[in-house]
Amino acid sequence: MLYFSHPACSEHDPGAGLPGHPERPERLRAIEAALAERDWLGWERREAPAASVEELRLVHASEHVERIRDLCAAGGGALDADTFAGEASWEAALRSAGAACAMTRALVSGEAGVGFAAGRPPGHHAEPSRAMGFCLFDNVAVAAALALAELGLERVFILDWDVHHGNGTAEIFRRRADVLFASIHQGGIFPGSGPLGDAGSGPGEGFTINLPVPAGSEEDVWLSLLEHVVLPAAEEFRPQLVLVSAGFDAHRDDLLAECRLETSSFAQMACQVREAAERWGAPVGAVLEGGYDLAALAGSVVATMAALGGEGEAVAAAPEPLLTSRAASHVSHYWSL
Ligand SMILES: [Zn+2]
Repeated sequence: MLYFSHPACSEHDPGAGLPGHPERPERLRAIEAALAERDWLGWERREAPAASVEELRLVHASEHVERIRDLCAAGGGALDADTFAGEASWEAALRSAGAACAMTRALVSGEAGVGFAAGRPPGHHAEPSRAMGFCLFDNVAVAAALALAELGLERVFILDWDVHHGNGTAEIFRRRADVLFASIHQGGIFPGSGPLGDAGSGPGEGFTINLPVPAGSEEDVWLSLLEHVVLPAAEEFRPQLVLVSAGFDAHRDDLLAECRLETSSFAQMACQVREAAERWGAPVGAVLEGGYDLAALAGSVVATMAALGGEGEAVAAAPEPLLTSRAASHVSHYWSL
């Protein structure tokens, strides 16, 4: 059980350019305070290396990588109405992608059976040539591409349970049959993509599963889709590695969307995924995406890691969050689209 992060990930501060931004350094601090309080659940912590530019280029255009690097070097600025990169964001972005890559290397080598990559900025909205939705580089996609291009795997399953559609990851792999991408997300909100009928294209047709759910959906809907749609498809795909784009903004306390998962719902989803992956003989790595209510986020990460680590009791007694502050009411396109 390996946890990867890096202090540089807390230096990325979108609020410096977009005041009141919900994707803030306190997110990681809340997660790590909650984990420290529980002795890290017995997980080993490792410092994330920086991803190489070559690794980023596995899924991103060189021009995009250079644009972000140059913007940061020049002191930073807004990339769109929601997305900001400052001077420290380049290093943060490399460590965030590097956390996902290092975790994936450890999982594929058999060093660990489960992992958690806790980086910022998040990744799943970043497209091959465009930063968007708080994301600069698509961390989970870089890690999946690395596993396929360099680590000898042939089939990677990415489950995206962030409440927003993972449009970046979907776009990157939509024409490929070696990545099964499944997303459960609230329909009708940012980024507006991911309709049920979009199943990928070309050789990748059938290897994308989009499951939009209505506002107000509770855990019965999410767990049922996972159990009856997503995991049976993945069973057929027989992945050699499972990566979870683990956002926690479908939590009922999160202000960026209107789904109503409990903290323990994430433990139940993680449990289902872990049990299925054990049948497939595949390791499971979670990569942090969204989650903006600090208390809900920290509690849900703890619950997820406990479940991935096989702690049934910890799942039953999903911890009450340590912190109580709610997400700042940053008005943005992110949740008004
Ligand atoms: Zn999200």
